[in-house]
Amino acid sequence: MSTIIPVAEKVLTENDRLAGLLRDEFAHLGVVVLNLVSSPGSGKTALLERTFQALDMRLSMAVIVGDVETENDARRLEKAGGRLVRPIVTGGACHLDARMVTRARTELPLDGLDLLFIENVGNLVCPSSYDLGEDMKVVLVSTTEGDDKPMKYPGMFRRSGAMVINKTDLLGTSDFDMECVRQNALTINGNLDIMAVSCRTCDGLDEWFAWLERQVAAKRDRGQALCT
Ligand code: MG
Ligand code: ZN
Repeated sequence: MSTIIPVAEKVLTENDRLAGLLRDEFAHLGVVVLNLVSSPGSGKTALLERTFQALDMRLSMAVIVGDVETENDARRLEKAGGRLVRPIVTGGACHLDARMVTRARTELPLDGLDLLFIENVGNLVCPSSYDLGEDMKVVLVSTTEGDDKPMKYPGMFRRSGAMVINKTDLLGTSDFDMECVRQNALTINGNLDIMAVSCRTCDGLDEWFAWLERQVAAKRDRGQALCT
């Protein structure tokens, strides 16, 4: 006797299985994996450019960058000093899934790596449902968007561990209210780490870099605890 499982559920079950294998491998390697999610144009690529420029000497980093079409963002990241950049062109799909990451991962040497970023396709809806084996989702919002984004897309904010508010240099040019977006985000998820930055002026980025280094140190400690 067979059980009938709806197709969407079956797809997600298979995704979870592959994501579980990726998570085990990432844990074994001791690499911190962050899945960057946002609407299109919030500044995921800009944040990674700044990160590569600033932390290249201190941390060993790689990025898997997903886009529906073009490898433009991958080229930008290589220009910013990213040595391990792997593009995924989804050819229409509006999110990355664990199968795509599994394939891209085989083309990246991950030994000795501190940080692996996965820049997801710009979309606040379905990337929230696809586990990629990451340690944490980091959601970006920018001050050119509505400050009610967390209320409109609660799933994404609930499943994220940190929120980065970008484009603070443009504050005051719209009705975007910093306190309002913070309150909305914390209403959805009280555990969010929240940082505010401008990738254009570099304002606030030191806090983001320090946060990244804490994630790396924490994973190293957990790895050592497992070994002893
Ligand atoms: Mg991008
Ligand atoms: Zn999608």
